[in-house]
Amino acid sequence: MALRFYNTLSQQVEEFSPAHDNTVRMYTCGPTVYDFAHIGNFRTFTFVDLLRRWLRASGFELNHVMNITDVDDKIIRNAAAQHKSLEEYTAIYTKAFLEDCGKLRLEPPERLTPATQHIEDMVLAIERLNTSQHTYTSDGSIYFRIASFPEYGKLSHTDFSGHIAGARVDVDNYEKADARDFALWKAPKEGERFWKTRLGPGRPGWHIECSVMAIKYLGETLDLHAGGVDLIFPHHENEIAQSESLTRQPFARFWLHAEFLMVEGQKMSKSLGNYYTLRDVLDRGYKPEAVRYLLASVPYRKPLNFTFDGLKSAEIAIERLRNFKRRLETDQFIAGCNEKLTFRTAQASKAFIEGMNDDLNTAEALGALFEYVRETNSAMDSGEFRADNVRTAADLLTQFDQVFAILEPTTATSHILDSEVESLIAERVAAKRGKNFSRADQIREQLLADGIILEDTKSGTRWKRK
Ligand code: AMP
Ligand code: ZN
Repeated sequence: MALRFYNTLSQQVEEFSPAHDNTVRMYTCGPTVYDFAHIGNFRTFTFVDLLRRWLRASGFELNHVMNITDVDDKIIRNAAAQHKSLEEYTAIYTKAFLEDCGKLRLEPPERLTPATQHIEDMVLAIERLNTSQHTYTSDGSIYFRIASFPEYGKLSHTDFSGHIAGARVDVDNYEKADARDFALWKAPKEGERFWKTRLGPGRPGWHIECSVMAIKYLGETLDLHAGGVDLIFPHHENEIAQSESLTRQPFARFWLHAEFLMVEGQKMSKSLGNYYTLRDVLDRGYKPEAVRYLLASVPYRKPLNFTFDGLKSAEIAIERLRNFKRRLETDQFIAGCNEKLTFRTAQASKAFIEGMNDDLNTAEALGALFEYVRETNSAMDSGEFRADNVRTAADLLTQFDQVFAILEPTTATSHILDSEVESLIAERVAAKRGKNFSRADQIREQLLADGIILEDTKSGTRWKRK
């Protein structure tokens, strides 16, 4: 069966292929770089990575754009509190975000687009919306008039017909004609960073950046747009209103939304304080691939409850697969080929593909793989598994790892400090002197896992990073 996704817009599972050539034009909403991202954020970004990798495994090329929101209220507030310019402040967290993505093996999109590098594009878009009567100005800020877009609500499937338009509501200290209306351009408040533009001094609202950068780089109709479920309303609804008012074309054909990472029944979020950053988790000694596996193992449309036990189970699952890989590489098998097992491997590969094609049902895909690994381990124990079965089994693991990307261990070169290496070497020297060779070997292994290579010379132990 072909690749299918649940489309939030149609509320149906639909067969997916790009509209034009073989290239998928996709846009995903990126981070707001006001602090370190938490692993809830990374659930959504891991889903996007699986999506990218599976689209490519399905034979498509990618043109994927992701924004970096580098101006918003929280950023302005935090930067001011730390006496840093907006640029200095956001550079720190953009770098941290990209480092974390690297650790989690998230492929970079074809284009990363910081909002503040597109101010002129946004000004142009707002001018066009002004001309086409979709906006109004109040106290120097420019708002999108939702009443000018009758299809508003079509993504979140919300019926706004009972809404009393025109009631004056003061939200966020901005004067709006209708509570749903949202700011395209925000007049500066006292002491705030602003841009001098043809629209007057100010800064763009959050929603307009995505519409403008998506259309600029991907055209008027995207094949696919994705983010977390909290973005459906109002962010994506607003993106549709702006974009379709600008182009009169459907903004995106497919809308995919990832469910939340939860902690004890509540969304993991900064505001609730129930969050862990990736750094918090790694500092507790977990490997990034365990985090990646945990986030990937539950299908993206199901809420995922985060626990440290869950991370431990992820470690065990990874180890099982790595052991299987090791066996394929190092066990000695009897010559020949067991056709039944070749068939079984093909069957497992088909089930894996079918699971992923079914709206990225990672649980189903992993289920098929683990069942196969269990059976094949038994076939190895009983001698039924033959030398010529190795290649197809290894191919299945490659197929799996092109998407899940967890088989290669992280060598934590950046984690261990020079001083820690030195003290472990000193401990090893002492262990050897005390004839405790097993401890000495253990230290060597431990350092190697951290990417440190030891060399014993006459003048002592030298070390280097891999
Ligand atoms: P932000 O940096 O706040 O703009 O959020 C970045 C992404 O993380 C968005 O796509 C959000 O939908 C997503 N997100 C935020 N909290 C969670 C969570 N607890 N679980 C999954 N995704 C989340
Ligand atoms: Zn967006």
